[in-house]
Amino acid sequence: MPADTVTAAPDAAAVQVQEVLRKKRQGQTLTTDEIQGFIAGAMAGDVKDYHVAAFLMAACIQGLTLDETVALTEAFVDSGDRLDTSRIDGIVVDKHSTGGVGDKTTLILVPLLAACGLKVAKLSGRGLGFTGGTIDKLEAIPEFNTALQMDAFIEQVNTVGAAISSQTANLAPADGKLYALRDVTATVDNIPMIAASVVSKKIATGADVVVLDIKVGQGAFMKTIEEAQELAQWCRQIGEQLGKIFSTVISRMEEPLGCAVGHTLEVLESIDVLKGQGPKDVCDLVDVLGGVALFTAGKADSLEAATALIKQKRQNGAGYDVFKAMVAAQGGVVAALEHTEAMPQPDRIRIFPAERSGVICEIDALKVAQATKMLGAGRKSKEDAIHLGVGVRLLHQVGDTVAAGDGIVEIHTTGEGENQAVEWLSDAITISDTCPDIQPVVVDIQLAK
Ligand code: URA
Repeated sequence: MPADTVTAAPDAAAVQVQEVLRKKRQGQTLTTDEIQGFIAGAMAGDVKDYHVAAFLMAACIQGLTLDETVALTEAFVDSGDRLDTSRIDGIVVDKHSTGGVGDKTTLILVPLLAACGLKVAKLSGRGLGFTGGTIDKLEAIPEFNTALQMDAFIEQVNTVGAAISSQTANLAPADGKLYALRDVTATVDNIPMIAASVVSKKIATGADVVVLDIKVGQGAFMKTIEEAQELAQWCRQIGEQLGKIFSTVISRMEEPLGCAVGHTLEVLESIDVLKGQGPKDVCDLVDVLGGVALFTAGKADSLEAATALIKQKRQNGAGYDVFKAMVAAQGGVVAALEHTEAMPQPDRIRIFPAERSGVICEIDALKVAQATKMLGAGRKSKEDAIHLGVGVRLLHQVGDTVAAGDGIVEIHTTGEGENQAVEWLSDAITISDTCPDIQPVVVDIQLAK
């Protein structure tokens, strides 16, 4: 989708590349001009990939200050287009998740927020590796157009209140370039760089208010609550310095979110939640994320009132009405939402049984994601084709008591990779004699100042 405006790059030629690298290697602080020139040079091809790789490693070891990270974020934003949201009438809100298994909250929150009077212009991506992409999930709805033209996108946000379309390749392209190099230089898990990456994309999409869902746990980038809180704080501070309102929620990602992992299955679970049903962890997370967005946008007097309003719109079907309107506006077959055999289907469903009696004490999210990928639902590289009808549906969640032989997972399969998927599931699920304490899905909420 073409975006509206292009910001001019800073003067790349003026930057002394080796001086930048030497300063960072020695732990000195770079100026805004140095960082912006370095990134502009990388985009222009004057700064080579080996320079960028050296910068990334030095920045990881020596750290980046908040000012440096703000400059990096701005340089990412300035490297590409910005979505022009000035033609949208009302408060534009966006949400972002750092990536989780079974995370279908975008599908649910976007219409719910619109049902509460906010405008949601959501640009989403496709899945890669473990994280499923919202755009792939939406393509499980027959005829749904995920590639709206700019004018149609903005018009739909104004009329329906919500639109979800695929992300233009040209939003913060410098982040994409650096991310690819971080991936191959063992420099991904650096908090300031993750913050710059996440915040830049949200600033480029032009929302007034952003809610970040930062995942914590074995199935997430951030393994501890302290790390997640640090990332959340960096994101809020960068947002504040760049004049954007970011609130953060930290949520657990040990086991998959909800019961469904896989495209059609996740759309169906989202519909359940939008009809006031669905798994408790998904409902709780949606209510909190939505409440934080509404309250931060000034649409309620308290966080409690905002959360209650979201819950009401989820339970009374108002969010589902907007979802149907959004599907209709984007050319999707609305009848398929109720006659779900019209969505991509597996060839058969195999039941994975409990290997012993006891209480389910662990369902490892990453291993479930591996199982789903084996079935054909996940990509190894961007070009891979995926099967939208396969996946897994948990018949039980952590804390449930089961007897040996009870079905605990439905495997929606074409046969491809099925035996490997069974092995991953067997490894993912632990049944023991005692019941673990069930932790609430939301760990921490920090509202923008
Ligand atoms: N998600 C992002 O968008 N960027 C990162 O660097 C890590 C997670």
